[in-house]
Amino acid sequence: MRIGHGYDVHRLVTGRKLILGGVDIPHAFGLLGHSDADVVTHALMDALLGAAALGDIGRHFPDTDPAYAGANSLGLLGRVMALLAQEGWRVENADVTILAQKPKLKDHIPQMVQNYARVMGLPVTAINVKATTEEGLGFTGTEQGIAAHAVVLLETLET
Ligand code: MG
Repeated sequence: MRIGHGYDVHRLVTGRKLILGGVDIPHAFGLLGHSDADVVTHALMDALLGAAALGDIGRHFPDTDPAYAGANSLGLLGRVMALLAQEGWRVENADVTILAQKPKLKDHIPQMVQNYARVMGLPVTAINVKATTEEGLGFTGTEQGIAAHAVVLLETLET
């Protein structure tokens, strides 16, 4: 078994969509980034790549590459899953925490879990997504950005 952790931050700006866990969430602000800036999915991909000692998403999907401009992060997650399978890994579970002052994410979390279950080929019981505020403190508390952490457990595929 192997454990992996991922962490990511994106800045909140006007004129961008807010995509979290593959869900397009109505909000006055969105996240700035080269791809769709889905900070939650980025943290999850980094946890997966980290557990497999395969580096990080910056190495696999460089933000200097125009191919990834506006990229759908769920699509990139599918590519990370294919890479893990190729390397002989399966995912036991994933646990994700979103740090955001606003908007309230509770109602969107079931859809995020469904998205990850579909793309990762896992039962919804293997995936947990939760959200918290930081009580108005720091960059997430003052709504300058949204952060996410992810932890995953990988197991070797039966041979
Ligand atoms: Mg990112």
